[in-house]
Amino acid sequence: MKKRMKFLLQYRRYRLPFRAAVRTAHGVWAEREGLMVRLEDEKGAVGFGEAAPIPWFGTETVDEAEAVLRELGSEVSEEQMAAVPEKVGCLKHALAVARAEFQVREANNKTEHLGVAALLPAGRAALGLVAGKAELGFRMFKWKVGVADAGDELAMLDDLCAALPDGAKLRLDANGAWDRRTAERWLARCTERPVEFVEQPCFGTRGADDVLRGLAEDFPTPLALDESLVGEQDIERWLGAGWRGVFVVKHVLLADPPAALARLAAAKATVVFSSALETALGARTALRAAFAWPGERRALGFGVWPLFQDARFDGPATGPFLYAQDVERINPEALWNALS
Ligand code: MG
Repeated sequence: MKKRMKFLLQYRRYRLPFRAAVRTAHGVWAEREGLMVRLEDEKGAVGFGEAAPIPWFGTETVDEAEAVLRELGSEVSEEQMAAVPEKVGCLKHALAVARAEFQVREANNKTEHLGVAALLPAGRAALGLVAGKAELGFRMFKWKVGVADAGDELAMLDDLCAALPDGAKLRLDANGAWDRRTAERWLARCTERPVEFVEQPCFGTRGADDVLRGLAEDFPTPLALDESLVGEQDIERWLGAGWRGVFVVKHVLLADPPAALARLAAAKATVVFSSALETALGARTALRAAFAWPGERRALGFGVWPLFQDARFDGPATGPFLYAQDVERINPEALWNALS
């Protein structure tokens, strides 16, 4: 009988304060909690993965992921990892990514750099930052909306558009904060303005899927799904519904990223790879996937660094482009060791 391959499994839990709290329509986010996992095979080869849940998106909590890890114990087989339930999808992701590290990696494809969207803070503070970021070379800007009064924010939109350099575009992210009427006001205003897409105008209310589909039909500005996509079952649902807007892919939220990305690629979906404010360990895998993406290249939603008070957990400093060589320089083992 073939001997079952066993892996040593270790994990470390982290709680990392952000340099500055992140304000979204969900509230204020001050620190990142998650887990890093480490697998070691019988020959001593190691692989790392990160579980970075966002419970208010509908993922598991870190406690739930940790409970499953405790149950798994310090030695696991492939079968045990495969049997980890879907409801802890972020943990499944971490284990799958760590496991994939053992396979020989094909040479990176030829793309050497990808554009990055500059992240602007909510409210009027965004206005003061556009010129500086434009000077650095950014041409895509992401503005968080749905945080203050919609009328006040709408009044700022034209000021913000006027401040953009020639040829630049704006992404708006409402984090699901608007009702249908508010979304309609915004989308009417976005027409003929340099808005690449409006991300998650509505979410969480009854019939929100229908509202999103209706808005996508009624207005020319594309819509992007983010909160609507917690895992592969949501991607499958929206592909099945013929969604022609943008899929914001937070790689760390996918239990089986290669399978989900293959589905999106086969459907010729428009994908924007985006940070879930994970550490550089999880971001490394996400960015590798972005560099390998066969479809249209949209600016990355990774304009987040420096992010952590402890800069060891940050990815490469954010500029208008992200380079494949900088992604390859991220050292998972060093990040793991930084948690000890
Ligand atoms: Mg978003």
